[in-house]
Amino acid sequence: MMDENCIFCKIIKGEIPSTMVYEDEYVCAFKDLHPVAPVHVLVIPKVHIKSLEEVNEENAIYVGKVQEAFKKVAQIMGVNESGYRVICNCGEDAGQEVKHLHYHFIAGKKLGPKIIHD
Ligand code: AMP
Ligand code: ZN
Repeated sequence: MMDENCIFCKIIKGEIPSTMVYEDEYVCAFKDLHPVAPVHVLVIPKVHIKSLEEVNEENAIYVGKVQEAFKKVAQIMGVNESGYRVICNCGEDAGQEVKHLHYHFIAGKKLGPKIIHD
């Protein structure tokens, strides 16, 4: 369920400080340490899934709850009307650094047409 060496599992357990913006039984959402936009929140399942490559029938409930959480985070952050972008990096070519499935929730300015950055 949890990986004791995983930084995001530690955040879930409260062993590492974070600025939590939303939390329920399945999901938590906290501010990214290095925001790329006025609103940059990481939304994660409360179970250690390494990446999208590890989603399966057993843990899919958590991933579904993450999908449901985005609109709640949007409301809390006040961007449900202005809009937002959600990005999930999976694996080396995508530059995934933290091996605990997480979705970047980005908003608070015009994000432009690009979804790929060098
Ligand atoms: P990725 O490159 O998709 O794996 O993104 C990892 C993200 O986690 C980066 O945007 C980091 O800024 C962020 N991050 C790493 N450690 C923490 C932390 N302790 N609290 C909040 N965000 C973090
Ligand atoms: Zn983890």
